[in-house]
Amino acid sequence: MKRPLAAALTLCTLATSFAWAQSTTPSNTAEPTDPKATEQWEPVPRIVMPGAQNNAPPSDAVVLFDGRDLSQWEASKDHSPAHWKVHDGVMTVDKTTGNIQTKRHFRNYQLHMEWQVPKDISGEGQARGNSGLFLASTGPGDEGYEVQILDSWKNTTYVNGQAASIYKQAAPLVNAMRPPGEWQTYDVVWTAPVFAADGSLKSPGYVTLFHNGVLVQNHTQLAGETFYIGKPKYKPYDEAAIKLQAHGDHSQPLSFRNIWVRPLD
Ligand code: MG
Repeated sequence: MKRPLAAALTLCTLATSFAWAQSTTPSNTAEPTDPKATEQWEPVPRIVMPGAQNNAPPSDAVVLFDGRDLSQWEASKDHSPAHWKVHDGVMTVDKTTGNIQTKRHFRNYQLHMEWQVPKDISGEGQARGNSGLFLASTGPGDEGYEVQILDSWKNTTYVNGQAASIYKQAAPLVNAMRPPGEWQTYDVVWTAPVFAADGSLKSPGYVTLFHNGVLVQNHTQLAGETFYIGKPKYKPYDEAAIKLQAHGDHSQPLSFRNIWVRPLD
């Protein structure tokens, strides 16, 4: 009986000294106790007044089209004045005059735009209400990074070419299309690609897109510029215009309204 008691006493002593050591040894993994240690007070975010109603431009937005004129736009082919038709607070594609683009150039930004497929739209597949939002226009034709605009209401085509796709690169997560005749919204966050001085790619471009308020591209990484034929590839650029496509199909032209952008650089 003596031995087990001695062993128990020894164990008890050891345990007590261990616990004492634990409670008195300073530990660098101790939980912080001051809530202020994780508060950040500066820099204070600047104030931006939101739009008065839904989709109205916030106070720091660059308004690209407010329904009145095309003063912010030019023809992509030769930088002459843009000649799409402005009427009733909207602009309608004029396919005879080609793509138009912003006079101002941008890098990273948030963009809002609204577009409408005519109620009586005809054609099928890619030839039914085709246009496009080029997030960065790197040439006068269809060069750049295209978010597809198309009638995708009960209109079958390749999925990486339907509305809200990154054309020939990424299908939308879902089809959030409203029927022809109704207004659609696009809200885009564009993170432009970054190139090194020697022209090599430092970081790719990313697109987040909401179509009618529904997330359809979630920080989608791009493999380069859009090509109709062949794989996407990057070409160095710094700042670029935002371009709207006058697609050469024979369906009725689309209209746009309420376009604004917030540069994020
Ligand atoms: Mg297109």
